[in-house]
Amino acid sequence: MPRAHPLTAQLARLPRVHLAPLPTPLDDAPRLARALGGDRRGPRLLVKRDDLTGLALGGNKVRKLEYHLGEALAQNCDVLVTTGAIQSNHCRITAAAASKAGVDAVLILRPGESDAVQGNLLLDRLMGARIRIAPQPTGDAVGTTVAEEMESLRLKGRRPYFIPTGASTPLGAAAYVDAFFELLEQAEALGVAIDAIVFCTGSGGTQSGLVAGAALSHSEIRILGISDGTSRAELAPAVSALVRGLGARVEVTLDVAPEDVIVLDEYGGTYGAPTRECLEAIRLAARSEGLILDPIYTGKAMAGLADLVRQGRWRDDQTVVFWHTGGQPALFAYAEDVVPG
Ligand SMILES: *Cc1c(COP(=O)(O)O)cnc(C)c1O
Repeated sequence: MPRAHPLTAQLARLPRVHLAPLPTPLDDAPRLARALGGDRRGPRLLVKRDDLTGLALGGNKVRKLEYHLGEALAQNCDVLVTTGAIQSNHCRITAAAASKAGVDAVLILRPGESDAVQGNLLLDRLMGARIRIAPQPTGDAVGTTVAEEMESLRLKGRRPYFIPTGASTPLGAAAYVDAFFELLEQAEALGVAIDAIVFCTGSGGTQSGLVAGAALSHSEIRILGISDGTSRAELAPAVSALVRGLGARVEVTLDVAPEDVIVLDEYGGTYGAPTRECLEAIRLAARSEGLILDPIYTGKAMAGLADLVRQGRWRDDQTVVFWHTGGQPALFAYAEDVVPG
């Protein structure tokens, strides 16, 4: 039983479909901690394994889809429509959730450098999603394609339910409030005090849930989002708005100012392009712990964590949680970068 947290009753009223085996593990990663700390040692490192959320190779989108699929089915929808990058983890999980619920999925994908049928795109096709590639990668072109698709489905008498990019909505945030309290409970059982949570932030849903959870519990845990390439100027207000939107949704005043949202945007480089430090971090995690990261999100977050540890951000007696958000299928679409030659 999850410990009662301040929003338990409100969130329990939202329709939800169980997709993820919870709680996900919280694992010690002592060899990676030592490798990151080097001579100066460094903090204890725990890894929150949200890559193990079960459905269709998992990741952070599974928790978010529990609430979105719940709402979609409550509205009697018969097709999920969403959008993302060509190697979108969110689109893969939407396709999987649709398969599991017996409804259709339409994915509007932004054209990328490679449309090789690999990684997430391969899994999307395997799960039978209908795929439309937007004519251009711009927000306008994608928006127009989504609007056309929704209209055409309605004209055919279908009942489409649209899930915004990354399922980063107040419902997506709700899922990560739950997740935050899940982590607190695990930390309590282990008898550890967590000083910071480090993870990759992209469309802000994960961060808004963690930040809201910390605010609700008056927790001192620092929520450090390392961006996937999105700028802090864009993300901090978006996270703040999602937190407010969650509050409105559950009729609780929730206010976190953009200045209080920590987004480190110096490690992400360009979205979708793995940096050298990201690739090094992927190899380090794989070789020290058998822990598999991905080239678009978690590798960049680990590169950021490595730099923060190197700078001496934490003492040896502190504990940092690296929140693994999944994404590993994309490794196979970036094979040449990950293991060159
Ligand atoms: C979507 C995604 C993120 C970013 O999460 P947001 O809630 O969109 O900020 C991080 N890591 C992985 C693997 C993802 O798929």
